[in-house]
Amino acid sequence: MIANPFGLPSSIHVLERGWLSSNNILFLGEQETALVDSGYVTHAPQTLALIAHVLREHDRSNRLDRLVNTHLHSDHCGGNAALQAAYRCRTAIPHAEAGKVARWDEDQLSYKATGQQCPRFAFDDTIRDGDALLLGDLQWTALAAPGHDPHSLILYCAQEGLLISADALWQNGFGVIFPELEGKSGFAEAHATLDLIAGLDVRLVIPGHGAPFADVGAALATAYSRLDYLQDDPLRNAQNSVKVILKFLLLERQTIPLEQVSSMMADIPLLAACNRRYFHLGDAALADWAMAQLVRAGAAAIVGGELRNAG
Ligand SMILES: [Zn+2]
Repeated sequence: MIANPFGLPSSIHVLERGWLSSNNILFLGEQETALVDSGYVTHAPQTLALIAHVLREHDRSNRLDRLVNTHLHSDHCGGNAALQAAYRCRTAIPHAEAGKVARWDEDQLSYKATGQQCPRFAFDDTIRDGDALLLGDLQWTALAAPGHDPHSLILYCAQEGLLISADALWQNGFGVIFPELEGKSGFAEAHATLDLIAGLDVRLVIPGHGAPFADVGAALATAYSRLDYLQDDPLRNAQNSVKVILKFLLLERQTIPLEQVSSMMADIPLLAACNRRYFHLGDAALADWAMAQLVRAGAAAIVGGELRNAG
């Protein structure tokens, strides 16, 4: 058997994806298989193929018993419906999201607000702060990790010193602090979540995006400093979110005709709200600003009347 990279226990397989899809963490326990987070909907066929491949490689007769979501952003649960159809897996979501998912409340779930897609899925169980989970024959504790998302959970395995950090901590930052965009508190919660992580005995972090990493101290230092920078001027968090949401659109579509960018952005409620609260620009001016930012960062290019994904 190929040695598991990053010194992970052999029951854990990290399927590292990109930015459109979150990482998928596959657990092969003696009795039960489980997956944490399912990626974005347009990648669902690839997600299914990757999981089937690992299951087959390990003689698991293509059986996925459980699906767990750290949080319900479209890039973490967009594959739920396809996985449920393929495997009839028992699905667990953060407890606070249960009502919204049960009635598929488009206004409360984040997909409509961000202009992203997520096919409707069902759930069987909910997870609360402090709940114990057995994944890959290891004991994990779910911990509330608000900030990026008010209801996000992270998963900690004390025995192995492992942390599934979702979008609360990446090697070089963390996800957009969404609550602040709507005038709700998020920076203080994000800070408390970093403090919580700092108090854990972690030897390896499995983030929601990017490769697993060992130097949690360095990642925390970067995250604290970025959080201070954003908190000093909340416009910076809004600017970051506009860039991230446009980049996500571009990752999904690959190209957008230039004349459509402004109306596409104006139709995304969260961007429109951000503009009203923080930018006070016309639709075209906000689109021009955002495109220029992505082009400057090498994340997009303007070619032949189109905005193209790059980087
Ligand atoms: Zn997220």
